[in-house]
Amino acid sequence: MKYILASNWKANFTFEEAKIWFESIGSKYNEVRNEVRIIAAVPYVYVHYLSSYGIVDVFAQNVSHVKQGAFTGEVTVSMLKSVNCKGCIVGHSERRHIFGENDDIINKKILSLQENSMEIIFCIGEKLEERKEGKTKEVLFNQIVNGLKDFERFDLLIVAYEPVWAIGTGVPIEIPDLIDAENFIRKIFKDNFNIDNLTLLYGGSVDKEFVKKIKQETTMNGALIGSASWKPDGFIQIIDNFINA
Ligand code: PEP
Repeated sequence: MKYILASNWKANFTFEEAKIWFESIGSKYNEVRNEVRIIAAVPYVYVHYLSSYGIVDVFAQNVSHVKQGAFTGEVTVSMLKSVNCKGCIVGHSERRHIFGENDDIINKKILSLQENSMEIIFCIGEKLEERKEGKTKEVLFNQIVNGLKDFERFDLLIVAYEPVWAIGTGVPIEIPDLIDAENFIRKIFKDNFNIDNLTLLYGGSVDKEFVKKIKQETTMNGALIGSASWKPDGFIQIIDNFINA
């Protein structure tokens, strides 16, 4: 089983804090790298510097859907590639719901990353009202098939199931609901793309306790973690609990 623990820094960390995090997690990673892959999704300005540490895999948290040209302020996939960025988060609910990114934009970003052979953490997840209305499966299906239109490089793909209502709330999903969503997502990939070894993470208020349940009670491949991963000591505890579960 291939395991991943990915830290999503969001709009946090000074440069000094970023270096401290990398040094702490980097030395921990030397002990555990055979058991789990660690990814840090960092702000653009730190990607180049942090990639040069060469230990934890550095991802961006976003990328432009345009390839190049007169698009003031945009950061493109080829720019990220040129500073040794390994991959990028796409479709995070904060991009979808705060910045209004739709499936079409998300698909363009994914295809652009594919063209440059960069990895993708593709986030999907339903909002609370969608869950209450019984639309979870419909939402997940549409996000997957629309986001992955014309996509072929499944070796580059990591999917993160992140129910929107669980992100940053301190309340993760219940395990039976996670198992239900996991089975459904894996079936979509099998039925539509003939993929039966999808790398699938859970995200949404993962902490040092919930990470044990993910490992013990589901067949998910790990987690995408926000706030609980920002303090190096806290993330090290999560790594230890996951490995020892
Ligand atoms: C996230 O933003 O991807 C996330 C899972 O955040 P948190 O762990 O803070 O809920």
